[in-house]
Amino acid sequence: MSAVQQGVVVAIDGTSGSGKSSTSRGVAERLGLRYLDTGAMFRAITWWMLTHEVDVRDAEAVAARVEEPQVVSGTDPTRPTITLDGADVGVEIRSDAVNAAVSPVSAVPAVRARLLREQREIIAEAIADGPGIVVEGRDIGSVVWPEAPVKLYVTADASARAARRAAETGGDTEATRASLEARDVIDSGRATAPLVRADGAVHLDTTPYTLTEVIDQVVALVESAKAKA
Ligand code: C5P
Repeated sequence: MSAVQQGVVVAIDGTSGSGKSSTSRGVAERLGLRYLDTGAMFRAITWWMLTHEVDVRDAEAVAARVEEPQVVSGTDPTRPTITLDGADVGVEIRSDAVNAAVSPVSAVPAVRARLLREQREIIAEAIADGPGIVVEGRDIGSVVWPEAPVKLYVTADASARAARRAAETGGDTEATRASLEARDVIDSGRATAPLVRADGAVHLDTTPYTLTEVIDQVVALVESAKAKA
């Protein structure tokens, strides 16, 4: 055992709509860990750009303003919150406008550099004075916290993802599928911190499983990593 025992970091990356959020929150609740939704941070920056007349397809314009928005992420898995310049933007960041703009904004290196700094601070704080944190995103196991003892790469069939997401949002399944796939193409193809299966990540295809079954599998992985630590 090390002199100062730190909390565990569970890194959950994967494709859009694969069930990462529900899984991450469920695992955090079950194990009494904090929860960080890094996608919400990228979405909040995107919403700020859209509402401040920044052309989100112009990487230089986005980079020039990236330090201005104040983003605060709550880490309670039972009640995840995100504020932008002090206002709750939990609803706005799930809009179609943000869905369409978030991947190009997230591909801008200055956006990633800013949020990387903040994500690492939140994780460091959570493991210094608590049992740990579940962090979900696209580059958590590869870039943000490669030393995480538990790393997951979560995927699901495109049809299953679209059906699940459309049921949650009440949207059209085909349009939802197109939006999810468009984000995956940009997220996987970008130069900086693309979506990849990180070294050491366990691949979990959630298609045939219920949410509870997926949570059970991840909890078992965390328990076994903790037993080995
Ligand atoms: O997880 P969510 O689908 O809410 O993420 C929205 C978008 O934010 C992703 O499609 C991706 O462009 C970006 N993202 C990212 N890196 C992360 C988390 C999200 O680039 N760690």
